[in-house]
Amino acid sequence: MGSGPRAIVIVGGGLMGLSTAFHLRRAAPQARVTVLERGRVGDAASGASAAGVRVMGRHRAERALALESLRRWPELDRELEATTGYRRGGGLRVALDDAGWAEARATVGEQRADGVPVELVDAATAHRLAPGLSPDCRGGVHCPIDGHAEALATVNAWATAARRLGARIEEGLGADALVGDGSRVVAVLQSDGARLPCDVALVAGGAWSAGLLAMIGVKLPLGGRGLQMLLTDSAPPSLTPVVGCFGRPLSLKQLADGAYLIGGGWPARVPDEAVNRWEVLDDSVRGSLEVARAVYPPLVARSVARSWAGIEAFTPDDLPVLGPVNGVDGLLVACGFSGHGFAVAPTVGDVLSRLALGLDPLAHLWRGLGVARLV
Ligand SMILES: Cc1cc2nc3c(=O)[nH]c(=O)nc-3n(C[C@H](O)[C@H](O)[C@H](O)COP(=O)(O)OP(=O)(O)OC[C@H]3O[C@@H](n4cnc5c(N)ncnc54)[C@H](O)[C@@H]3O)c2cc1C
Repeated sequence: MGSGPRAIVIVGGGLMGLSTAFHLRRAAPQARVTVLERGRVGDAASGASAAGVRVMGRHRAERALALESLRRWPELDRELEATTGYRRGGGLRVALDDAGWAEARATVGEQRADGVPVELVDAATAHRLAPGLSPDCRGGVHCPIDGHAEALATVNAWATAARRLGARIEEGLGADALVGDGSRVVAVLQSDGARLPCDVALVAGGAWSAGLLAMIGVKLPLGGRGLQMLLTDSAPPSLTPVVGCFGRPLSLKQLADGAYLIGGGWPARVPDEAVNRWEVLDDSVRGSLEVARAVYPPLVARSVARSWAGIEAFTPDDLPVLGPVNGVDGLLVACGFSGHGFAVAPTVGDVLSRLALGLDPLAHLWRGLGVARLV
């Protein structure tokens, strides 16, 4: 691919599509960049996200991408000229039993070897970092560069910044098909029947990417799953880090308004995988609250103010799938973020824009995440 003027069509107005649109226009102001979003930007996983910005506990193949993203997060509001709600309060994954403590000790060395600045902390330090933790806490792993943002604010920040740089973001307009000519994608068929020609099409359609790709013979093993979140009523500020727990599904943070946000991968029901609709499961609400209160007992006094879910694409190895597709020119994919894509959106967008423009693809950041491993 050359780096001259190009027409790029992005399917999907989630964080990956929006971040790519922003980076494209910044790197190549002459490029025509269109984002097709069949609903509203952030409608699916991105807007529902727990918005944790962490490198701790990631698979080795994602660490470089996450470290590079975390390097950018503190400056992101300035870069986007918009507010993401980002706060770097650290991450603390605690152990409440022997098995958890053994796992905590086992994970620190290999993460540090890859440059992830985690440290093993004893119970006293864990309690100092997060007063109120369960008295059973044995200690845990602390990562001072982890933090969190606000999901919808972040989606809107990327959309605003991409629009400001001249990307066209169409809401309420879907992509019905990719149009091929021989082995090349040459256009995207819009849901209004129009054909939008392109040099490159990026499929960043989250849990609905696989269907679009299958229509041109690219079969990716993606599965959509609903992930559920709880938000409590507000309390005075007391919890700074994002808290997780070894052996129990939990991500817990206190937001700027004092409410606690509780997640950790609890399932929601998805009645029809073809559409963006979910139902909160009572069992997940109960289980999620139980785990959160066991780890952080002050939550016993809090009630659930709201619950929701988002549908996310999972791959068989729970790692995203990025980049070009062998044998199909003019096509890029970015999907399968498997419940942990929020934090890496800044770098994913940078990588994809470079691939679309034929610039240095920063291959060292996403080695092991390419399409070839899954097809
Ligand atoms: C509840 C929950 C909690 C999470 N917590 C975290 C966290 O704490 N930290 C973290 O790093 N990650 C987290 N994640 C994961 C993260 O939010 C996602 O990985 C990320 O937002 C995925 O972004 P995306 O752009 O790939 O997908 P999406 O946000 O799902 O966007 C895809 C978009 O494509 C659109 N689309 C699909 N098909 C078409 C079509 N044919 N035409 C036009 N538009 C189409 C959809 O409408 C959708 O808006 C969480 C996810 C969920 C659901």
